[in-house]
Amino acid sequence: MEIKTVRGVEDIIPPKSEKFEKIVETFKNTVHLCGFKKVILPTFENIALFTRSVGETTDIVQKEMYLFEDRGGRKIALRPEGTASAVRAYIQHGIYAKEPFTKWFYIGPMFRYERPQAGRNRQFYQAGCEIFGISSPGSDAELIKMAAKILENLEIDFTLEINSIGCNSCRPNYKTALINHLSSEKENLCQDCKNRLDGNPLRVLDCKNKNCKKVVKNVPIITDYLCDKCKNHFEKVIELLKTLEVKFSLNPFMVRGLDYYTKTVFEFKSKNLGAQSTILAGGRYDNLIKELGGQETPALGFAMGIERIMLLIEKSEKNRNGVFISTFGEKGYLEGLKTAEILRNRNIYTEIDHRQGSFKSQFKTANRLNMKHVVIIGDEEVENRFYSFKCLETGKQERIESLAELIARI
Ligand code: ATP
Ligand code: MG
Repeated sequence: MEIKTVRGVEDIIPPKSEKFEKIVETFKNTVHLCGFKKVILPTFENIALFTRSVGETTDIVQKEMYLFEDRGGRKIALRPEGTASAVRAYIQHGIYAKEPFTKWFYIGPMFRYERPQAGRNRQFYQAGCEIFGISSPGSDAELIKMAAKILENLEIDFTLEINSIGCNSCRPNYKTALINHLSSEKENLCQDCKNRLDGNPLRVLDCKNKNCKKVVKNVPIITDYLCDKCKNHFEKVIELLKTLEVKFSLNPFMVRGLDYYTKTVFEFKSKNLGAQSTILAGGRYDNLIKELGGQETPALGFAMGIERIMLLIEKSEKNRNGVFISTFGEKGYLEGLKTAEILRNRNIYTEIDHRQGSFKSQFKTANRLNMKHVVIIGDEEVENRFYSFKCLETGKQERIESLAELIARI
């Protein structure tokens, strides 16, 4: 019986993988200009890393993690997101003491047991950035600007929403106000939200349940409860985003699906994706490094969902490219093999048809491969030491006398 991919998991094969490559290249080129360095982190970690960072009462931890016990009895989770591992690595390698500030990026698969639909998979790819060690609002603005730049470079239309969710000194006041308000509406909340109301009422704001969403429309607004420090920080971020000409709107109900955020949070959305509209999201998480056992270090970051971006971008128009070597006869074939080797050593993309089919079938192959040039090498060419050279763009065929000239023409 045929075995297929597990539900919610997809192969990314050509030509779709070309989009993936384009997104990754664009992401890397953009973040390199801001000094981000690559980290390659494990895809599985101790469960505790995620329960302590993402949060016990989040959907991710409560319902979406892939968990298993390894043969040594360790409790393991496939990573549902990248920030927790990045922070763990930052602490584990003592980076705090080595660098004034640190900028890292990662690209890789994440795993969440969610209901699969367009733009929502159980294994999906994120490209993310983290900045450790800067508390200034300028770094929030710079990071958001850079994220916008990545999407602009990919020619994606987006909207940006931002909010501030305060810090440990002001959020408790808001939580109290929120619990007071939500308690009066408790019967309209889903069971999950009823359960987490007292411990983590902010989760209600992120609930996807229709009724909960209705209730959330009338809750107190978090930015009215910010302390002076958080308020100033947020105002400065807003001012700097304007200076950097980033368009955004304020969404005072946005809290994000992970517990570690403080102060600034943001989401980039596309209106062309239906329900799965968020394509890139992140925020500041000034307490997380300390909470995971490191020195107190301010930090912020974002992650971009590559599958959702793949749904939005066009495949780049592929120009004809490369040389197809079409050979006839044994001598021609041997000469063709050698020529292919020489061209490849010159970094020229070269194909040769080992099946040595008819003239017509070889040209058909060259066209299907979208090659730019065909070099024909048959007995006549070998004996008289020349190449027949055809450009598939113009259809023009000509005689070329030497290898040097051939290389120059390509
Ligand atoms: P959503 O609200 O859509 O579930 P989220 O708040 O869970 O998103 P984050 O954890 O912030 O998302 O992840 C950042 C980005 O990763 C999302 O904006 C999205 O583009 C992408 N992403 C998250 N979950 C999935 C998934 N299951 N499949 C594909 N992409 C995803
Ligand atoms: Mg989610």
